[in-house]
Amino acid sequence: MGQASRRRERPFAMTPATTFAGQKVALFGLGGSGLATVRSLLAGGADVLAWDDNAASRDRARAQGITVADLREADWTGFSALVLAPGVPLTHPEPHWTVPLAKGAGVAIIGDIEIFCRERAALAPDAPFVAITGTNGKSTTTALTAHVLREAGRDVQMGGNIGTAILSLEPPAPGRIHVIELSTFQIDLTPSLAPSIGILLNLTPDHLDRHGSMENYAAIKERVVSGAGLAVIGVDDAYCAAIADRRSAPRVRIHVEGHGEAAGDLIVQGARIVEAGGAQRADLTGIGSLRGAHNGQNAAVAVAVARALGIDGATLAAGLTSFPGLAHRMEGLGRRGRVLFVNDSKATNADSTEKALLAFRDIHWIVGGKAKEGGIEPLSPLFDRVAHAYLIGASSEAFAEMLDGRVPYTRCGTLEAATEAAAKAAAASAAPEPVVLLSPACASYDQFPNFEVRGDRFRTLVQALPDAPA
Ligand code: ADP
Repeated sequence: MGQASRRRERPFAMTPATTFAGQKVALFGLGGSGLATVRSLLAGGADVLAWDDNAASRDRARAQGITVADLREADWTGFSALVLAPGVPLTHPEPHWTVPLAKGAGVAIIGDIEIFCRERAALAPDAPFVAITGTNGKSTTTALTAHVLREAGRDVQMGGNIGTAILSLEPPAPGRIHVIELSTFQIDLTPSLAPSIGILLNLTPDHLDRHGSMENYAAIKERVVSGAGLAVIGVDDAYCAAIADRRSAPRVRIHVEGHGEAAGDLIVQGARIVEAGGAQRADLTGIGSLRGAHNGQNAAVAVAVARALGIDGATLAAGLTSFPGLAHRMEGLGRRGRVLFVNDSKATNADSTEKALLAFRDIHWIVGGKAKEGGIEPLSPLFDRVAHAYLIGASSEAFAEMLDGRVPYTRCGTLEAATEAAAKAAAASAAPEPVVLLSPACASYDQFPNFEVRGDRFRTLVQALPDAPA
């Protein structure tokens, strides 16, 4: 998520946790956002005892002057809160060992978003707080919404589960807008969550091992909109449609035509976004960073937020048009002659790759890695869009079997070989606009440390390709 580069842009910003001044706080989890939380608590005047199960993380924290102490041996009666880093399990698959210690002593268990919420309540309760969650599209929607608001000249702070940890942003202030991506873990650790605009994009089964059941997962996500002043809800799946029905206070229901049956207040019709009455609010035609119906849903959210915050239509249109998109999510890498190159390395499962295949035709598809259950079989209805598949990584044999007789393919092994072969074949094809698409539908771990490294490598390879003959 480009954390390092975004952090470098704003090295000194911070929200001191003044609402914990003079209090004793236990903190577990000394990764990036855990360290940011400790710094915020210390700057606000709290007394922090921190711990991590990982010795290297403890050493790093000690080197920064943080008091590191084994919380198993601490006196829990003195703590006003246990702050958990996001990802430390509160409930599933089983509570982390700090959780029963805190509960036994009656100590509240919270996360960094809760600290922010308390600061906002104390400093600027009327400042807009836009909280965004959902199974898919969180980062795109957060980045797009922040971009549109910034382009409209607003004072915007963006972060949370994307980029900068929330407590490393500037503090809440009147007129300043915080646009914050929230993971399920973060919501679960934020008991006083009450954003001015709460957004729930969609809900599909995801990481259920870490959230128990689908019902539990949906109930946690619902809190983003149930406590919000205005609720913006994508109603194209049954869970979100039911959540929207339960909400009677101000709400905007977003419906993408052809997806689900629920009625919408803001409707995505192809590239157009219209109100239920028919008035057009935006037109995404030609905006490369917002291709595809899924991005229609994301853009409609930005439209709803912009309207709620009083941004006029022309300014909104300019903001949507200039959105550069996020790296690794259908990221356009430019053309060589007629051939368009697209980096969708973030697509680590068939669901995500489906969105990319739906957006193009005459696709030279680079696919494979560490396969998820089901592999690429769910994508078979879209195979007619694929001109040729270039297989990489550990899934090659399994995917070759799934493609056999349906799509021509080449076992390339590496991303390097696949990029070269795909670029050549696409350039030689007769199609008017062939696309070389990296959308692996697989995790990257068999060949790369993460999807970002995989996508960065692809970008470098594409940039190094020889120019197309004139
Ligand atoms: P998240 O932050 O929720 O993981 P991203 O914005 O990073 O989501 O998008 C990840 C992938 O999810 C995209 O590459 C795309 O394939 C898919 N996606 C994006 N937006 C949506 C949406 N609104 N609905 C369904 N899938 C989406």
